[in-house]
Amino acid sequence: MVFGCSGQLGSYLVREFSNAGYKVVGTYNSNPIGSEKCIKINLKDKLMIEDLILKLKPDIIINAAAFTDVDACEVNRDECYQVNAEAVKRIVRASRVINSYLIHISTDYVFNGNNGYYKEDHLPDPVNFYGLSKLIGEAYALSYDMSAVIRTSGVFSSKKQNFPKLVVDSLAKGVKINATHEIYYSPIHALSLARCILKISDKKFYGLLHVAGERVSRYELALKIAELMGTDKELIIPVSQNQMSWKAKRPIDSSLDFSKAKTLIDFDFYSSSNNVKLLLQGL
Ligand code: NDP
Repeated sequence: MVFGCSGQLGSYLVREFSNAGYKVVGTYNSNPIGSEKCIKINLKDKLMIEDLILKLKPDIIINAAAFTDVDACEVNRDECYQVNAEAVKRIVRASRVINSYLIHISTDYVFNGNNGYYKEDHLPDPVNFYGLSKLIGEAYALSYDMSAVIRTSGVFSSKKQNFPKLVVDSLAKGVKINATHEIYYSPIHALSLARCILKISDKKFYGLLHVAGERVSRYELALKIAELMGTDKELIIPVSQNQMSWKAKRPIDSSLDFSKAKTLIDFDFYSSSNNVKLLLQGL
């Protein structure tokens, strides 16, 4: 059962698990596109979450649903908390009853970004409400013995507007694009991440795991995209983070150390080149 089957990651999870022979059911909220196998549920409806899980009795539950708009979370705190934290509590409660294996997806934004290369045992300290809500969601998920919490970073794909896609679209049109050289993170394509989650699920990993891409600044990632597209790098303008119009504070370096994940996953899920190539294939 995939919560968030209409999202970037969720849609690839449905595809990858189906291709691997699993019978998959998903849930969406507002966007039924590409979600034929999905059931509509709003995660603010706590009772329905439990009813649905208890009715379907899935062996594996993956929660890829979240209120992911970081700036909107800063303003709509109640909704953000309901979806990113409270709903996880309900998923855990129901999972416990039927002994499902739960995989919950979390974020690099649980860290304050003062150091970078965060390992699983580094102390979280979120700098915005999104990060805080996700940290509470993690705590609920980890309170259940049969769970894995996967922290990731900068998930991208062609399915949604995000920074790498904006760079591709701008470069394709020959339009200049601002990219900060002061914010570092570990971006990964949603398909790479979904493939990792399938591996992790098959191995029945329990606990906390960082699954993300190589550490890059937004500027470096934009240069990599230009290089792989064979377009003019001069179109990418390095700017300071103060010039970005964000409502919520961002961690300066939220990059994740994924060395533990590399011991479980036997393919290259992390290199910027491989991840960007998936985007350039229209995935
Ligand atoms: P998307 O924003 O692409 O998708 C979010 C999913 O959550 C959609 O299926 C959406 O449904 C669903 N959803 C949102 N609100 C509700 C609600 N109230 N009730 C039910 N479903 C809801 O997310 P991604 O695929 O990018 O992210 C997947 C996971 O990875 C999330 O846990 C996120 O926190 C985490 N993550 C993402 C990062 C990123 O850069 N995107 C970075 C680090 C971690 P619908 O579209 O139908 O409304």
